[in-house]
Parts: sequence; structure tokens; C-alpha cells
Amino acid sequence: LPKGLINWKKAPCRFCGVGCGLLIGLSDGKAVAVKGDPKSTVNKGLCCVKGYHSVMAMYGKDRLTRPLIRENGKLVETSMEKALDLVAGKMQEVINTHGKDAVSMYGSGQWTIPDGYVASKFMKGAIGTNNLEANARLCMASAVTGFISSFGLDEPMGCYEDIDHADVFVLWGNNMAEMHPVLFSRLLDQRLKRPDVKIIDLATRTTRTSVAADRSILFKPQGDLAIANAICYELVENNWIDKGFIEKHCSFKEGKTNIGYGLEDKFKFSDKAGTITFEDFKTFLQDYRPDKVEAVSGVSARDIKYLASLFGDPNKKVTSFWCMGANQHTRGTWINNLIYNIHLMVGKISTPGNSPFSLTGQPSACGTVREVGTLTHKLPHGVVANEKDRKMAAEIWKVPVERIPYKPSYHTVEMFRALDRGDIRFMWIQVTNPMVTMPKLNRYRDAVQKDDRFIVVSDIYPTPTTDIADVILPSAMWVEREGMFGNSERRTQHFEQMLDAPGEAMSDTWQIIEVARRMGFNELFPWSKEDHIEEIWKEYARFHEGKKHGMAPYEALKQAPGLQWPFVEGKETKWRFHAKYDPACEGNSFDFYGKPDRKAWIWARPYEAPPEIPDTEFPFWLNTGRVLEHWHTGSMTRRISVLHQAMPRSYVEINPEDAKSMGIKNGDQVRLVSRRGKIELPASVHERGQPTKGQVFVPFFDESLLINDLTLDAFCPISKQPDYKKCAVKLEKV
Ligand code: SF4
Repeated sequence: LPKGLINWKKAPCRFCGVGCGLLIGLSDGKAVAVKGDPKSTVNKGLCCVKGYHSVMAMYGKDRLTRPLIRENGKLVETSMEKALDLVAGKMQEVINTHGKDAVSMYGSGQWTIPDGYVASKFMKGAIGTNNLEANARLCMASAVTGFISSFGLDEPMGCYEDIDHADVFVLWGNNMAEMHPVLFSRLLDQRLKRPDVKIIDLATRTTRTSVAADRSILFKPQGDLAIANAICYELVENNWIDKGFIEKHCSFKEGKTNIGYGLEDKFKFSDKAGTITFEDFKTFLQDYRPDKVEAVSGVSARDIKYLASLFGDPNKKVTSFWCMGANQHTRGTWINNLIYNIHLMVGKISTPGNSPFSLTGQPSACGTVREVGTLTHKLPHGVVANEKDRKMAAEIWKVPVERIPYKPSYHTVEMFRALDRGDIRFMWIQVTNPMVTMPKLNRYRDAVQKDDRFIVVSDIYPTPTTDIADVILPSAMWVEREGMFGNSERRTQHFEQMLDAPGEAMSDTWQIIEVARRMGFNELFPWSKEDHIEEIWKEYARFHEGKKHGMAPYEALKQAPGLQWPFVEGKETKWRFHAKYDPACEGNSFDFYGKPDRKAWIWARPYEAPPEIPDTEFPFWLNTGRVLEHWHTGSMTRRISVLHQAMPRSYVEINPEDAKSMGIKNGDQVRLVSRRGKIELPASVHERGQPTKGQVFVPFFDESLLINDLTLDAFCPISKQPDYKKCAVKLEKV
């Protein structure tokens, strides 16, 4: 390209799970500009502030370009060859000394699909351990178990086009205006075009979403469980349910076991379904009469009835959106089930505009973690506990089936506990920053620094996680390598390598292949550097063949801004489980073919109090989350000067009444203390967000103010996803 001219190439955005299509402007071997891809059906040419500045994340001054190894406590530069030799040698040594279950890998929903696929093949097919987890356990595991328990298959039945058809949007603890900003702009756009469209923000804190919504309804932490049941109560009471749909397409279930939060116990919990009748379900709902639910939820009976009337109106199409507010919950699976219950009771599902839609946070939490299955219990398109799935993996990978263990090992929190105990001695962390994001961080920071633990970290910048590494491998970022991401609406998006990675930086895919080959697994990873992504995709796509999950071919992905699966006979599937749109359906209407009875399951899930509740010593609820300007732990976006200047450091949002009664003004330094840790940071009063009285909110993007030292590592016993949204703290003026 002549000097000064810009060549535009397509890629999905590197940041959130919306998956906006971008055009990257390239000139003189550098990315110099970004614009929204007008051909993308996701964002139709628009981006948010992170997307528009995304390419700048590649050019931070302290980019890691050479491998570093720890010698006598200090990190020293070495060559990539030597560093990879060391990683392979150490991994083999730990396997020889302590067994294959003493090594582990911890990846990410920011892994590309090929990264996750080779990680799964390496750990499960080559080494033969299920010690593979990804940070998506911390963000969408409850969405998965919610889908599986209600429908038998993972990922949304609808798509973003639901936004163009829905009359009502109910946002369940989902600050879309900041977390999924481009999608939220599509909601606002619809309301401008169709003034009857309503946006209802159901949340524990007032945010930019609440301000833009038609109604903001605030509830007490964990009150969502009771509210959802109370909505169902009202639907039944007013006869707003779709009886024909329920009789034909739903069955009612209750969980048989409840042993609490499974804190140190990963095997005892069972969620085996028992069948109940519609009458049993009605009886169960009697505890959730709106006036009874007022106290526990903090929402008036009038507002609950209003919410029910929106779902119950036969002339309104309703789409629900949710994300971390529902998933990061000690009953995350249950609240997912309960939102499906509401949609199923009124038959508002799997048709344009009627959509219970679980959004995801990361760019490829769906594509890589859920579809590839980079979790301890998963295989590509299957689970390790299922013999048929193991046989399929063994056949495609050309390994003995006995090598793939049938028993899941450690989910994320347990994996770090195993590292603490010494059951795990080696961990390889890629594209994630657990020394900022693990809940109850103090405990796990101590764990990784124990003697005789060996930590490898692949990343693009120094972080608190590289600080504790024995080996740091510099990674190629995003369009410095070829790959694919899969977004929230089952859309796979391919991007080509557009730039050379700096120094010796190497893609995570190729790092794993290099280490696997050094450990003698050459035959499992036979691909060349030139065509390995294409070959990996072709091998991986074999797992998903068929009408229910077929993936688009590599050649088609290279051309299109993105293609939705199931991709059948050259066509995308926009809505699943309805014969009009989904070729996998039998009959001529709904077919929930993921379950053996081809029905969706409506679950009786009760309200349950959170594991830690404010008391006289720790009187405030602590809620944590993200901000618009920063991606996750800020390791990339804090190196983009315009984003850093817009949001330079963390803070604690305090309700103005609480602040006044404690004599705290905006900007004052305050201390937050929980049973696990403490932190000092500036107060934010009357600024961006406003928690309800008795709550505080702290974002987690700032590595110099580690809020996760305070959070609780209790998790949903079904999904094993921790609850970052509620624990007890005290607030003090410094
Ligand atoms: Fe990127 Fe998400 Fe912003 Fe779209 S909304 S540009 S995917 S960060």
C-alpha cells in the first residue's frame, strides 16, 4: 500500500461480548484507525468508546516483547526457545513427580476459539487431565447451567434482531448502557422509532441505564429470586399464562437437593430434577404473593404487579436481558431458571421480539469457553462425564479414549484452592489476570507464591499476575494473529493476521503447540504456522456437525462479518426451538429438542438469603463491577491515554444519604473493610452511579486498588460461579 494510504480490514472488537464488527485501518505496518463495520448486523457501523480506541491497546510503551524467567527472585530476559523449553520441561517434571493432575491451565473468554481448542486438546487429549478452566467461570457459568437445566442446550435461542421487534425490554441487574453500550443504543433507537417501546431497569443501584429507562425499579440484593417468583404468581393469578403452550411444550421440575453453598465441597451437590405438576408449582408460588415479597425484595407489590402485567399483556413482545447481576450470584443458576420460567409461562420465547436473552461479558466467552468447552467438565460440544462425548473426542483427536478422564476435577475457585494446598503445582495462565479478579484475593495471592509452585503467564503487558510468574511469555494480541471469537448471539467472527507481533511475541495458540511438541505430542499438533488456524477450525468444526450446532465453514467465515450457528445448508439460524426458523425442529411449532421429553423445564426455585448479610459490625452491602471506559482489569484500556484520562482511578460510590450522615463528601478518602481485607479509596457521591441506601459500589479495573481483597468466594453450588455482587463491609472516613 503506498505510504499514507489506509487499508481497511474487518475484525470483531477485542473487548466486550456484544461483538461489534470493526474495520481496522492499516498503514505502514501499523493499525492507525478504527471505524464500525457498516456491514455488521451487530453494530451497523457504530462502536463505543472502547471499540473506537481499541487499536491503541497494542501500542503501550511497556508492551511485553521478550520472555522473562525468574532467577534468584528476579525476572530476567531470555529467548522464546529457552522459555518454551523451560515451560515444557517444568510441566513434564511436575507430571513425573506429582502426577498429571498436578498441572493445570487457566484461560479466558478472551482466548480465540483456536487458543481454547488447542488448550483443550493439549490438557484433556494429550496430557489426560481435566485441570482446564477459564475465567468465564467467573462471569457466565450460571448462564450455562441455567440454559442446560431449563433447555438441555447452551446459549440463547434468540438473537440481537429481537431488539427490532420487542415492545418491552426488562433488564435484570444489567447496566447495559455501560456494559453493552452499542446494544443499548439499539434499544434507545427502537424507542425513538416506536415511542410505545418501554425499557424497564430492574437493579440494585441507579446507573446510566436507570436514567435512560422508562422505569427504574430498585430491589434488595438477592431479592430478584423472590421478584421473579412473584411475577409468576401474578401471571397465574390473573390467568395471563399461555395454557396451550405450557401443556404442549413445558414440564415442571423441582430440585431435590440443597446443601447450601458448597464452600469447600465440590462433589456432594446434586441438582437432580424431580417432576412435579402444574398444581404443585402453583402451590409453590403461594409463598410469593407480591405483598409477601415486598419485605424481602424491597419492591412494592404495585411494581411487581406492573412487571407481571408487561409480561402478561398478549399484545406485547417482551425481551429480557441479563448478565453479571444474575450470573454472579450464589443462586445464579436459579435466577436464570426463574427468568426462563416467566417467559415460558406466557409462551414469549423463540420468536422475534420474545426472548429471554442472557448476554455475555467477554468477546469469546461463548465461542471459546462454552462452545469449545474450556472448563473442567467440558469437551468440545460435550461433557467428560458422557462416554459418547469422550469417544467422539478421542476419535477426532486420535487418542485412546481412556486418556480423557471421565471425572471433572477443579472448577476455578477450587483450582486455586488446590494450588494453595499443593495438589496443583504448575499453572499456566493465558489472557487473564486472576491476581486482580479472584474473589477473596488475599488467600489466592498467598497460594500462588508458595514454594514449589510454578506459574507461567502469557500476556501482553505486565500485570499483578505477571508479578507472581516464574515465566512470562509475551503474547501476540488480537489482529497480530489470526483467530475467531464467538459473541453473545451465537455469532462466530473471523479475523486475519493484519500486523506483525512485536519482538518475540507469539500467539497463545502457537505457544501451546510449541510446548505440546516439546513434550512429545507432535502427532496431535501437526499443523504448519501458515495454515494452522484453518486446519484447527476444520478439525474443531467436526465436533459440531449437524443441524443443532453446525458451524460455518472457514471460507465463509473469512468473507462474512460474522455468521450465526447453527449454520445449516449455507444459512444462519436466528431463532432456535421454533420450526419456522430452526431446521433442527420436528413438528411445525416449538420443539425444545435439548431435553429428552422435547419440553422446556419450568423449575420451582425458592428464595434463599445470601451467604453474608450486613450486620452491626459490617453494615453495608458491597457490589462490584465494570465501568464504560475500561475493559475488565484495565490492563489494556488503562494504557489508552484517552480512556485512562476519562477514568483514571477507582472509587467507591456511596448513597448521598449515607455519605451525609457520615460526613463524607465527594472525593474524600474513605476506608472499606470486610472480613477478608481492606482498601482505601476516594468517595464518589452524586457522580456516575448511585447505590441505594446501605450499599456501596466499587469498580474492579484499577490494579492499584484491589477490591477483590474484600469480596467473598462463595459460589453457586450448581455453576460454581462466585458472587461478586454482594458481601458485607464497613465504611469509615479516613
Ligand atoms: Fe467493543 Fe463492546 Fe464497545 Fe462493541 S460495545 S465496540 S464490542 S466494547
